[in-house]
Amino acid sequence: MHNFALKMSIQNPVVAIDGFSSCGKSTVAKALAKRLGLRYIDSGAMYRAVTLYLMRNGLPLTADAIDKDVLASALDAIHIDFKISAESGLSEIWLNGENVEQEIRTMEVSSNVSFVSAIPEVRHRMVAQQQRMREDGNLVMDGRDIGTTVFPDADLKLFMTADPEVRAARRHKELQLKGAVVTLDEVRNNLQSRDLEDQSRKESPLRKADDAVILDNTQLDFEEQLDFVIRHLEQLKSVGTE
Ligand code: C5P
Repeated sequence: MHNFALKMSIQNPVVAIDGFSSCGKSTVAKALAKRLGLRYIDSGAMYRAVTLYLMRNGLPLTADAIDKDVLASALDAIHIDFKISAESGLSEIWLNGENVEQEIRTMEVSSNVSFVSAIPEVRHRMVAQQQRMREDGNLVMDGRDIGTTVFPDADLKLFMTADPEVRAARRHKELQLKGAVVTLDEVRNNLQSRDLEDQSRKESPLRKADDAVILDNTQLDFEEQLDFVIRHLEQLKSVGTE
């Protein structure tokens, strides 16, 4: 068991978690937030909410296809908030006053989100909002560019990965538990194409920050992953107090 004096030793930590799709970033981030009393922000949910808004309004979903002024008006009309659910105690995303936490997780949104997130104007707006959420720290944020672009000076940067087959199987199970009718092949293809799009886009592509610690959780259970992260935070503490 860990000593939670840790929280007191690193003043208002900012933890950045990046990595490939469906490798358990949000599970680790939520657990860390709970254990250390940090705020948790799921930056991927923000790109999903923008995608949902564009889809609902029948707007084009790629930089080439969407008119700049139309995109600017759409982005002006999008208001994203995170609120703690009274039921689950977890942070949930709201789009223009509507809780869309479930709706943004459909395969339809998953199939389009990497195109939308590659649009530079979309990224600029989301990154600016994410940076404002830093406030006084005490924050864990997960995504694809948190350690490289959003918080390049984060106290701890993790880069998560896992075997692609393991990731596809985990995600498939998760979707099935939610009642989605989707095959393992569809899930695997979606993860592969999102990872490829996310790594190859021009604007803040997915990549490991030079000073990020790699967490490959293919063989690790939940507690082992959390221990790994806490150990790295403790190392920061000893470096900081030397
Ligand atoms: O984290 P999640 O898989 O829900 O993210 C959905 C998509 O949002 C990613 O595939 C990626 O295209 C985009 N994203 C991003 N930058 C982030 C977080 C997510 O481009 N910081």
